[in-house]
Amino acid sequence: MDTTVETRDPITDDIDAVIIGAGFAGLYMNQRLRDQMGLRVQVFETGEGVGGTWYWNRYPGARCDSESYIYCYSFDKDLMQEWEWSGKYPEQPEILRYLNHVADRHDLRRNIAFQTRVTSAHWDEADHRWTVQTDRGDTVRCQFLITAIGCLSTGQVPKIPGLDSFQGDWYHTGAWPHEGVDFTGKRVGVIGTGSSGVQSIPRIAEQAGHLTVFQRTAQYTVPARHGTVDKAFLDDIKTRYEDVYEYCRRSAGGQPYTLSERSALTVSDEERAAVFEAAWQEGGFKFLTATFNDIALDRRANDTASEFIRAKIRETVKDPEVAEKLVPVDHPFTSKRPLIDTHYFETYNRDNVTLVDIRHAPIEEITPTGIRTTDGEYELDVIVFATGFDAMTGPFFRMDIQGKDGLKLKDKWEHGPLTYLGVSTVGFPNLFMITGPGSPSVLSNMPVSIEQHVEWIGDVVEHMRAEGVETMEADQQAETEWVAHVNEIAAATMFMLADSWYLGANIPGKPRVFMPYVGGVGAYRQKCDEVRDAGYEGFNLSPAATPVAGA
Ligand code: NAP
Repeated sequence: MDTTVETRDPITDDIDAVIIGAGFAGLYMNQRLRDQMGLRVQVFETGEGVGGTWYWNRYPGARCDSESYIYCYSFDKDLMQEWEWSGKYPEQPEILRYLNHVADRHDLRRNIAFQTRVTSAHWDEADHRWTVQTDRGDTVRCQFLITAIGCLSTGQVPKIPGLDSFQGDWYHTGAWPHEGVDFTGKRVGVIGTGSSGVQSIPRIAEQAGHLTVFQRTAQYTVPARHGTVDKAFLDDIKTRYEDVYEYCRRSAGGQPYTLSERSALTVSDEERAAVFEAAWQEGGFKFLTATFNDIALDRRANDTASEFIRAKIRETVKDPEVAEKLVPVDHPFTSKRPLIDTHYFETYNRDNVTLVDIRHAPIEEITPTGIRTTDGEYELDVIVFATGFDAMTGPFFRMDIQGKDGLKLKDKWEHGPLTYLGVSTVGFPNLFMITGPGSPSVLSNMPVSIEQHVEWIGDVVEHMRAEGVETMEADQQAETEWVAHVNEIAAATMFMLADSWYLGANIPGKPRVFMPYVGGVGAYRQKCDEVRDAGYEGFNLSPAATPVAGA
């Protein structure tokens, strides 16, 4: 990866807004505030280019699980008509090309400082301004601070003893070299079988001399049935694009699929099997949405889907011993992030692939030549960490964010994130979080949630300027009630029945708190609209020149 850092003078402006991040969220927020509303905006971005998640995650097989025609912006109606997606699901290079195209089309780069990491943001109660500092020596003061930092942008490489001694190369899927990695003839080890592992393992297996997969938790995954997309289908979507997108905006997961209205428990075994089989053949998230309405809510209904997938694994994987290791038995389907794959289970039929069950024989150490588990040593030239992220709160904690009275966000969220609507947090006025914890975010098709937040935050700023409001801060009671609501509805789902990153369980010592809002993007949008229409109910809005006593 070219890590040359271009020299530039430090930025020392006093402006309206700082946006942190130039992925899907930051790009649109920039366009909204700068171009639609005429604010003076500075964007800071760590990468050399735009793209966020899609700039960093370049591992083999990286693509999105949302279908391409709906994994895009809807604010630019002409672009929706013009852009031609090439596959059923958008692959990483194509998404990155799309985001670069958006940046060019709207001239969004000119106020983005690349290769620049925000290190701190401190609120000054005396003049109601944020002071934002970066690792490039910039000091920018602004009224509004907006985080567009992604939910899965802080990669976690587990602290396994001996990594420093490893003589081969190692990579994390979320910080993949831009020039790619040639696995030809190499002995490769992949640790992790989440989305990144399940996508990359089949592709790495095709190239490697030998691939050893170190699996801690077996996974349920459904075929994606990825392939080229029928142009006639996309052309038809374009004739009713706004309706399709509006359906997503009002849906549960921001997806265009019709939800089944039937319980899995009200049909015969034969009918249920036929419904699952049809969805399995069609592929993708329809297995969740278009089959039955209670798979994620009712344990007995869930058991039928879990058992169907287990049978498929046993049918696909030829070696019964390997198949049993791949069959998930310790958590129900949908309790971890649902996965879709391309030839994942088939990969274990290859002669050059070995599955190692590290749940029962854990990794003890990384040696100079490989990985040692309690069962033996595996010699490797390359290790790939598909071990995930310090999700949702991790990207915030990399910065020193301090609100009123020097309150550190890290301290406030010590026992889990506390937000009102996932967009604001008490003690941090004029800080707005795009897809923050407590919003649907990672449980939804992200562009749909991102657009909703960007537009809602844009409305807030417009309202404040029109009404002469200088600061807006969540009210304590509103925040407490929202956090309770987020927890209450999560408790009724399968999500509480597995160790997942949604609960922070993948990070040693992280509090076990369910972080996203599971109520659905439609219900959430309605709540945000009601809050806005009621004059920002649950927020305290203060006019200019009302410094707090003692500040
Ligand atoms: P992940 O879902 O958190 O999976 C991490 C994997 O590494 C799990 O199998 C985990 O095992 C294992 N692991 C973690 N720490 C370990 C340790 N110390 N020792 C051994 N194994 C360890 O991470 P991810 O696959 O990068 O995906 C994260 C999220 O990013 C996804 O859930 C999804 O939301 C998003 N994503 C989406 C796409 C897509 O749209 N297609 C692609 C990639 C990522 P356990 O299960 O036992 O914890």
